[in-house]
Amino acid sequence: MVKNVEFEDSAKGKFFLWRAVRGVLPTRMRLQDKGVPCTDCCPFCETNYENDWHVFMGCEEVKTVWRTAGLCDLIAEIVADAASFANCFFSLLCRLTTNKCKDMTMILWCIWRRRNDKVWDGDLKLVSIAIQLAREALFQWQIARQNTAEPHQTQQQQTIQWQPPAQGVLKCNVDAAIFNELKSLCTCICIRDHRGQIIKAATNWYEGNPLPQEAEAVGLRDAILWLGELGLSDVHIELDCKIVVDSICDKNNNQAEFGNIIANCMSLLQQFTNFKISFVRRQANVVTHNLARVSILHARHRVFDLIPSCITNLAMNEII
Ligand SMILES: [Zn+2]
Repeated sequence: MVKNVEFEDSAKGKFFLWRAVRGVLPTRMRLQDKGVPCTDCCPFCETNYENDWHVFMGCEEVKTVWRTAGLCDLIAEIVADAASFANCFFSLLCRLTTNKCKDMTMILWCIWRRRNDKVWDGDLKLVSIAIQLAREALFQWQIARQNTAEPHQTQQQQTIQWQPPAQGVLKCNVDAAIFNELKSLCTCICIRDHRGQIIKAATNWYEGNPLPQEAEAVGLRDAILWLGELGLSDVHIELDCKIVVDSICDKNNNQAEFGNIIANCMSLLQQFTNFKISFVRRQANVVTHNLARVSILHARHRVFDLIPSCITNLAMNEII
């Protein structure tokens, strides 16, 4: 029984999620697209194509899982409006509470695991048992994490958070997100004052599948340009991509496309001598990071007149 509970390894869970959201899980349609000689039919209903959407949201069998898990009503509206599985997932992350997000993620993993058991072992677990196993695994993983967390580590984690700039200086946090399924890149910029209040935020969308450091460098370039347009001069720019910050500071990199964007940033920075650029840990870049996730709902260039409430709540929490 315990052997079935495999989610105690969080890396496995994260890897599953990463593959699901980036659209690289080996569904039958994807395998067939890649030339693998197999059927593209759903192993449950055997009438629809098995793509990401059908696996996790569309199939009647899967709807039974969501219903049995008691999450069906909670997710129904978002599922109905979603343009893709990734879009649906990120919308749910924004709208659900932290605990419901964990439960939702666990149910996704449960659905994929149950599907694999059927495809590879011909084993079809009862929905209620599959859910029970998944939730038990989440519970045990949370207990294990609590037990292994060293007190000094917890304290260290608490101290890594966004820090307001000095009065008279603005802080501009930058982040980027790549949505492979949409072949798109989003850069997000968030400008805050010494009280921690968001005074401006914007997102930019581009087509393409850049490397992560390229996406972050594009974000930095967008930020410098935008700050310049706004006429702001004393600004501390923070990114959670060390390669970009190091490249700006070292003035030395050999990667072709990445190097071009960095060179671009450096030439722009010559006009803004009061801009300071530094690396910040992901935990201190939460607001902008989440804005990147929310931006998938808009998927276009946007300056926010009204900051999304989930972002203002995060910003408020950082300054309480
Ligand atoms: Zn189906």
